[in-house]
Amino acid sequence: MAPTVVHVAPHPDDEAVGCPGSLLHLEDRGWHVVSVIASLGFPDQWERRRGEAEEASARAGFEPIFLDPPLGISIGDDLELAANRVATELPPIVEAYGASVVVSPSPHDVHHGHEVVGRGVQRAMETLPSSVRWWMWGVWGDLPAPNVYFPFDEGAMTRMLHILEAYAGELERNDFRRLLTGRAMANAVLGSERVFGFGSASVSPLPYAEVLTEVRHIGGRFMASEAHQLDEGPAPESQFDLDLSPWLESPSAHEMVGRIREVHQDEGADGEVK
Ligand SMILES: [Zn+2]
Repeated sequence: MAPTVVHVAPHPDDEAVGCPGSLLHLEDRGWHVVSVIASLGFPDQWERRRGEAEEASARAGFEPIFLDPPLGISIGDDLELAANRVATELPPIVEAYGASVVVSPSPHDVHHGHEVVGRGVQRAMETLPSSVRWWMWGVWGDLPAPNVYFPFDEGAMTRMLHILEAYAGELERNDFRRLLTGRAMANAVLGSERVFGFGSASVSPLPYAEVLTEVRHIGGRFMASEAHQLDEGPAPESQFDLDLSPWLESPSAHEMVGRIREVHQDEGADGEVK
């Protein structure tokens, strides 16, 4: 069986924004990429967003799995129920594919839907074998302690943009293509120091980069691997020696002060946002 990575997207398009470069890099090296799409947005968006996710998966070569029914992760939904569904529905998927890496937003990713899914994945990781690695990305909130650096070139960015452009309806609302390029450029400047230590010289001349936080759940603790470039992993267990549990187990800012507001624009039958 091919080595497998399972990505968990809170919304359709998060697999195209979170860390698509790293996923495509693994795919190019023979990995199977399973793309769990947890929600489909508001009910009047389900059909459009599922169609967009299927097109994006086809472009990327990922195998999509849609949670059924779609997870409710809007502010009015039962967010605790949503986290528990991820915690119980993810492990059988990971086990069925013998996946060795799970990827998701961190539980501190600011957007309520991302944080809830991150919490669910965190609980799932506590039940999975300690050999399974958890990669976290940050989109709405940045990672405080990234330890994996993946630099990439213009060709990889072109592929990533083509996948993201399957989400025409979402791009109409907000041009996430500019986020993809802008964030990857910022990571290419800041990433070396954030991953390898402040004061580090740039580790790659490539124009773009992704950063991830990699942990394994070992002995009841979420242990982070030593800083490395993506290709230099996986690290042996002895190199997972930084305990990030205090960060992961702490409440997020929004869990402490309340969730930020959310707006729902009505959508017509033609998929046009009114
Ligand atoms: Zn999202």
